[in-house]
Amino acid sequence: MSVTPVSFTLNDLPLRDDLRGRSPYGAPQIDVPVVLNTNENPHPPSERLARALADAVAETAVGLNRYPDRDAVRLRQGLAEYLGHGLTTAGVWAANGSNEILQQILQAFGGPGRTAMGFEPSYSMHPIISRGTGTAWAPVPRTADFRIDVDAALAAIAEHAPSVIFLTSPNNPTGTALPIADIERIAAAAPGVVVVDEAYAEFRREGTPSALGLLADHPRLIVSRTMSKAFALAGARLGYLAAHPAVVDALQLVRLPYHLSAVTQTVALVALDHADELLGTVADLRAERDSLVEWLRAHGFAVADSDANFVLFGEFEDRTKVWEALLDHQVLVREVGPPGWLRVTVGTPQEMAAFRDSLLRVTGR
Ligand SMILES: *Cc1c(COP(=O)(O)O)cnc(C)c1O
Repeated sequence: MSVTPVSFTLNDLPLRDDLRGRSPYGAPQIDVPVVLNTNENPHPPSERLARALADAVAETAVGLNRYPDRDAVRLRQGLAEYLGHGLTTAGVWAANGSNEILQQILQAFGGPGRTAMGFEPSYSMHPIISRGTGTAWAPVPRTADFRIDVDAALAAIAEHAPSVIFLTSPNNPTGTALPIADIERIAAAAPGVVVVDEAYAEFRREGTPSALGLLADHPRLIVSRTMSKAFALAGARLGYLAAHPAVVDALQLVRLPYHLSAVTQTVALVALDHADELLGTVADLRAERDSLVEWLRAHGFAVADSDANFVLFGEFEDRTKVWEALLDHQVLVREVGPPGWLRVTVGTPQEMAAFRDSLLRVTGR
């Protein structure tokens, strides 16, 4: 018979001192009809694609007594072809979501005695994964319109000498893309690696370039991508990066053996084969985003320009109240970013109609 002492809590465990009092990542998972809070693509795979995935998984299943390809070579080759820019298998790496990619980068290049830097407001997982790997976190504030002040960035780099710098473009939660010239200036000054987190790359507006074009001239630059957003595959957990092959060699030293299951590799390969279908909704989502921005502005809301599949809007005296009132209308958005702002993911036309309707009621506009 075992007895669990009721008074025993996290605080009674020999937890690392630097983890005491921290909060875990926690986007609420609430079951309501209109879910617009985690930037997923609202369109599920078609029946035909679901069937193709199931068939491929069945073929994989008969070999599950064996470990998967540790180096995921076929998948990395497919990802390299998808990215273009002359990339090859040796310069591409894959993991369970881009969060694991970021963790491996910090395990290899961060750690105790080292510092990672980011430009806030930005993706909350960058500091969380940094701390999880014992890496100090040095945040630098963005300008009032959510750009990076490059001169301030260079001063902060000189002060902190970060081993890892995170540049998120388009940035989450603001939607702001970085000019390539800014990335180049920061990369030139960085003493360590520079990670351009391009989770939302496929949603960029016309004429916004990707940092992939910089890789050839910047061997310490890393571009991370994911199948969780535009690719409509958040449930499969597949993230990847493009970088100099030496960076991929470095990550081999910290990755767990066989980290990417045979099922995950198969699912991602089938998804790549159907990239046209999976990415087929991106143009519609971009158009929906642009009309949402216009609509919000026409109704007097402040809106950050967005190159992603979400929009940051405000400003509210009490954003928690607005968030709760929207939830009362069965619409879940995200309370994130600077005080006074909320973030809404671009969903289907029906979901956006429900959002607009509810927002007008809630705010009395
Ligand atoms: C959603 C998101 C990711 C994706 O994480 P996955 O682990 O690939 O699902 C990475 N970076 C940013 C900035 C994001 O918003």
